[in-house]
Amino acid sequence: MRILLVEDEPLLADGLARSLRAAGYAVECLDDGQAADTLLLTETYDCLILDLGLPRLDGLQLLARLRRRGVRTPVLILTARDQLSDRVDGLDLGADDYMTKPFDLPELEARVRALIRRAQGAATAQLSVGDLLLDTVGKRVSVAGQPLALSAREYGVLEVLVLRSGKVVGKSQLSECLYASGEEPGPNAIEVYIHRLRRKLEVASVTLRTIRGLGYLLEPGTSSGPAASSGRTPDAA
Ligand code: CA
Repeated sequence: MRILLVEDEPLLADGLARSLRAAGYAVECLDDGQAADTLLLTETYDCLILDLGLPRLDGLQLLARLRRRGVRTPVLILTARDQLSDRVDGLDLGADDYMTKPFDLPELEARVRALIRRAQGAATAQLSVGDLLLDTVGKRVSVAGQPLALSAREYGVLEVLVLRSGKVVGKSQLSECLYASGEEPGPNAIEVYIHRLRRKLEVASVTLRTIRGLGYLLEPGTSSGPAASSGRTPDAA
């Protein structure tokens, strides 16, 4: 999942970005509202963490512009302004959540997780397809109660597919969720993760299909034969 952090206090931005990356997010940081506005014309994120006091363009003005343009990215305001009127203005302008500094990191991470899964239409931190169960808090996966060992990237790919299960997810959509812009995955990186996941998921009652030319589809039920999981996948990285 991809997060844009707009924060002009370098120490706070660095520390927060590091913690979020350690939690498995692709994080990009900007220290100015105008630059964020420009970037958001072309890039999409799963969550925006927004300071209010920002150079060039204030956070509330940025938020108002985004919502006017129809950008629906979940926004968490993170600010030192703790007046009731600031909170009300922020929420009324289209913010989804509001935290004041100083804040506790575990709470911020929990709120980010909640915003992302709500935006994807999931109500709880436990996601399931067939007998596959994802714990999005502990980033753990189990199949019929048995733990399934996945690398961090494999988990990331699977989480996106589970959140959108029953829908085709394009390769570029997967890349966008997993990598920050400027962080270029190899040309076959996604195919390699899909290939590994498909093998690991053989024990589960789910099918990970390649829809040629469109992307990937995770659905409950096992494939009805070798033809069901079409698509060529590379054997190695
Ligand atoms: Ca600030």
